[in-house]
Amino acid sequence: MRIEADTEVCVAAGMCALTAPEVFDQSEDEGTVVVLAARPPAEHEKAAREAVELCPSGALRIVED
Ligand code: SF4
Repeated sequence: MRIEADTEVCVAAGMCALTAPEVFDQSEDEGTVVVLAARPPAEHEKAAREAVELCPSGALRIVED
């Protein structure tokens, strides 16, 4: 799996970074999403998928390999 993020759509809610801190962070200035691991290791996949589902803006999406 691969994660794509659209910072134009992100509303800086921070759910992703809270849910999967190993995979997502927020930029210091605007609070928009920063993807730390676009291809998260197996142990973080579940949290990453959860975070994508919880994102309120639809800025995140998963592309299956
Ligand atoms: S949860 Fe969605 S809207 Fe919130 S910071 Fe992450 S990508 Fe942006």
